[in-house]
Order: sequence, then structure tokens, then C-alpha cells
Amino acid sequence: MHEMALMGEVIDIIKEDAASKRIIKIDMVELLVGEISNAMPDALKMAFEVYKEQNAYFFEKNARIFIQIEKALAECILCSKSYVPDNNRISFCPVCGLPSGKIISGESFQILSYEGSGDADESNVAHRCADQ
Ligand SMILES: [Zn+2]
Repeated sequence: MHEMALMGEVIDIIKEDAASKRIIKIDMVELLVGEISNAMPDALKMAFEVYKEQNAYFFEKNARIFIQIEKALAECILCSKSYVPDNNRISFCPVCGLPSGKIISGESFQILSYEGSGDADESNVAHRCADQ
């Protein structure tokens, strides 16, 4: 399942960022996953648990992952009507009846935030990722 690879990338990004902020143990990760991003939230959660065990030095024992779902939305390039697209990516405009919709939301896959602790004197460091 490619969620393993995706989660591996997420953890690499967090590791790199955490190192620059002297965060040594992660206790929460929050992702935004689009409904039509090709990543399954349940599979991502399973992947997270696997990586958590493999990287026990980097995660609190009860570290958790939160996944926010981004709703899918398409907009017709002809009449500007916005609507919920079908499961496939070819979206037919309900007004024009043409495959003239472009996806404007629902394909995201990003790290919203993570939290962890650093040295003893800076216990709870929260960080928001603004990029991606
Ligand atoms: Zn239309």
C-alpha cells in the first residue's frame, strides 16, 4: 500500500523539521487528507502505528495521529458552478452536462501540525507547518 511510502515521507519531513527546532519526541501529528487524494485515512493510521514502533526513540509511546478530511469540490470552467464531483476525476457539470469541471478541493495531502517535546526546559513545543 502506498500509504506506507507517504507516511514515511511525512515522518522524514517531521524528523528534519523537529531536529532544527530541538524537538526530540513527537506526541501528535495532524494531517490534512483530501477525499480524492488517493490516500486512505485508515491505511495512513495503520502506517503511522508501524513507523511509531520502528522509531520508538522518536515517538512518545501514546503518540497519536489526527487526520482531517478535506471535502472534494469541483468547479465548472464554463459556468463556474461548484459541485461535489463523482469519485472519479472526470467531473461532469450538473448544469452544462459536460466534463468541464476542474477539481478545486479534495486533493490535498499535507502536514498541518505536529507536537512534541524537546529538552527538559522547553516541554511542550507545538509547531505548525505552513508550507506544502
Ligand atoms: Zn457548467
